[in-house]
Amino acid sequence: MRMKRVAVVAAAAFAFTLTACGEDGTPTPSGGTGSGAAPASDTCTTSGATFTADTAAAVTGSPTFDKIKSAGKVVVGVKFDQPNLGYKDTAGTRCGFDIEIAQYLASKVGVDPTKIEYKEIPSANRETAIKGGEIDYYVGTYSITDKRKADVSFAGPYFVAGQDLLVRKDESAITGKTALMGKKVCSATGSTPIQRIRDEKLTEPENIVEFKTYSECVSQLLDKKVDAVTTDDAILKGYAAQSPSDLKVVGQPFSEEKYGVGLPRDDKAFRDAINNAIEASFKDGTWQKIYDGTLGKSGSPATPPTLERY
Ligand code: GLU
Repeated sequence: MRMKRVAVVAAAAFAFTLTACGEDGTPTPSGGTGSGAAPASDTCTTSGATFTADTAAAVTGSPTFDKIKSAGKVVVGVKFDQPNLGYKDTAGTRCGFDIEIAQYLASKVGVDPTKIEYKEIPSANRETAIKGGEIDYYVGTYSITDKRKADVSFAGPYFVAGQDLLVRKDESAITGKTALMGKKVCSATGSTPIQRIRDEKLTEPENIVEFKTYSECVSQLLDKKVDAVTTDDAILKGYAAQSPSDLKVVGQPFSEEKYGVGLPRDDKAFRDAINNAIEASFKDGTWQKIYDGTLGKSGSPATPPTLERY
C-alpha cells in the first residue's frame, strides 16, 4: 500500500511540475515521442512480443521450479516506478523491459504471464525478499555484485547499464561525477550508485540524500531540493523522457552495472534454466524485440550482452 501511495505522489509531482511549466500531460512509461514533446499520458505500451507458456518445461532438482509448478503461478519481484523498465501505469498495467523479461522467463518455466504475481520490492529489500522465499525471482535493474552473491544468485547479465547523473535542464555546473562536491545528490537506499557516491566520496556525507525509490528523488530534483539524482543511465533516461523540458541526463557514465535476474542462492538448477532461457532470447531475437519496444525507446540502440554463467 505504501509503495502505491509513493507512485501516486510521484506521478502527482510530475503532473504538477509539468503543469507549472505550462505543458500538458502526466508521465509516460514509453518515454518521449522522439520529437521532444511532453508525454501525453502514463499509459503502458508493450513491445508486442507474446510469450506462450512452455507446458513441457522441466527443471530437475530445482526446489524453486517445484514450488512454481505446484503453485501454478510464479511470484516475481519488480520495480513499479521506473519508466520503460519496471513500470505500473495509473490503470494498473505493468510494462517495461524488466517486466517483459520477467514475463518471458515465466513462460519458459511453464507459467502463463497472466499467472505472474508481482511484488514491488525496492532496491534495499531485494536480498531479504529472495532469501526469505517471498519471491521466486527478481527482475528490476538489479546489478550483479560479489557482495550480493553472498545472499542471492544471479542469472545473466541480460543488460549492462552505467551509473550516470540526472539534473535539471538548466544545470550547467554538474558535468560529471567530479563536479558533485557541495551538491545535493539523491539516490535509492541499498543501491550500488549510492554506495559508489559514498565510497568515492563524490560529495559530502551530509549532501547525500536517500529515498526508497528513484521516483522520490526525481520529485526532489524537480522541486529543487536536490541538485542531481544518481543511478543507472537506463533508469535516468526514462525519467528524462518523462520530463524532457525540465530534466536531462549528463551522459558521462562512471560504472558498469550488469543487470542480473535475482535468484535463490543455492538453486543452481534453476539458475542454469534461467540462463538457458536468457540465452535463447538473445539468439532468437526475442531480447531484441523486447528491448527495442521498451527501454530502447528512451535509451540508445543496444544488442544483447555476453552471458556470464557461474
Ligand atoms: N543497478 C543498481 C543496483 O542494483 C541501481 C538500480 C537499482 O537500485 O535498482 O543497485
